[in-house]
Amino acid sequence: MPLHKTHNHNDFDDVFASNDLEVSAPKYRLPERQMDAKHAYQIISDELMLDGNSRLNLATFCGTWMEDEVRRLMAETFDKNMVDRDEYPQTAEIERRCVHMIADLWNAPDADLAVGTSTVGSSEACQLAGMAMKWRWRNARKAAGKDGDKPNIIMGVNVQVCWHKFARYWDVEERLIPMEGDRFIISAEEVLKLCDENTIGVVAILGSTFTGQYEPVVEIATALDKLQAETGLDIPLHVDGASGAMIAPFIQPDLEWDFRCERVVSINTSGHKYGLAPLGVGWAVWRNQEFLPDDLIFNVNYLGGDMPDFAINFSRPGGQVCCQYYNFLRLGREGYAKIQQNCQDTALSLAEAIGKMGPFEIIHPGNDIPVLSWKLKDGEDFNGYTLFDLGERLRHRG
Ligand SMILES: *Cc1c(COP(=O)(O)O)cnc(C)c1O
Repeated sequence: MPLHKTHNHNDFDDVFASNDLEVSAPKYRLPERQMDAKHAYQIISDELMLDGNSRLNLATFCGTWMEDEVRRLMAETFDKNMVDRDEYPQTAEIERRCVHMIADLWNAPDADLAVGTSTVGSSEACQLAGMAMKWRWRNARKAAGKDGDKPNIIMGVNVQVCWHKFARYWDVEERLIPMEGDRFIISAEEVLKLCDENTIGVVAILGSTFTGQYEPVVEIATALDKLQAETGLDIPLHVDGASGAMIAPFIQPDLEWDFRCERVVSINTSGHKYGLAPLGVGWAVWRNQEFLPDDLIFNVNYLGGDMPDFAINFSRPGGQVCCQYYNFLRLGREGYAKIQQNCQDTALSLAEAIGKMGPFEIIHPGNDIPVLSWKLKDGEDFNGYTLFDLGERLRHRG
């Protein structure tokens, strides 16, 4: 980029011979004048080279590779507003189809009766699921003539930050189960210790963000069934399947973590993680209408028709939902199973090789979600070497 002012610019000049690239682009103030589209594009595109390369990002659960057809669909749909279901009825129809496919994938007893919505990600989906549990609990308390102002929710300290947000934003006491020794997930026994009449629900994670392990949904459900038989307390179970709800159905089909488990009232997943859709889509599904209180649903009528809406956001892009549907059609159960199995085989072989190196102990080899976690062996000194050093080295070349 020339640092001195050149003269005699004309329309045929190369981008890098232009006026616009002769001066620094403003950072914090809107420029007074407009500039050529090509020049603005080049400035930003070049600056973004300073970002990491997402294909080398080992620390994300989100998709970093898309087929060309996905790119095309995204380009064709970026102007569709998901919330404007009256103007874009076919995008809304595609969303509905996805909800039913997902409910069916999660073994809803009747996928036609299951209700659900797309969201911007699991975080929004978890807020919605948490609210549904809080509202249902409060309605039941009211009906029984009891106070409804001290709700609590039970989960592990290992929950993703969205659950801490839920508790704080919606004023629900969080009862956190600590991790102990080699236990990095919650147990049925620990859950039971914290339950009382003010518990709106329990959250079990299918694929802990920290270790990749599944929490024992069936054991927790069985313990809650027993609790109900003994005390009458009917405490619902939500599964945060941000990652695992798009893994287990394909490669661990016999694991009954989903709606096959009577106690599970709602499930969320991130379409943009193992759902393989572009960033910006999540899903929340309830077993049936009974678990989604009516007073949480708004009937929005100012965009034309009268449309039900249960969301925190309003306007939101429709492309991610269309691409989720694309992946469902394109891959089917067969395609998803092959991809997820390949990922898992990779995780397992890495775990084996890393375990053999000596200094490392494998915490989870990737046999739940295909994520492996390991630590330095206890009680040995590696000349001050820590896993932060390893992280640093990995960052050098991804
Ligand atoms: C990633 C993740 C979330 C948050 O999901 P987003 O789609 O990023 O909002 C919530 N819970 C778990 C277990 C996760 O792994």
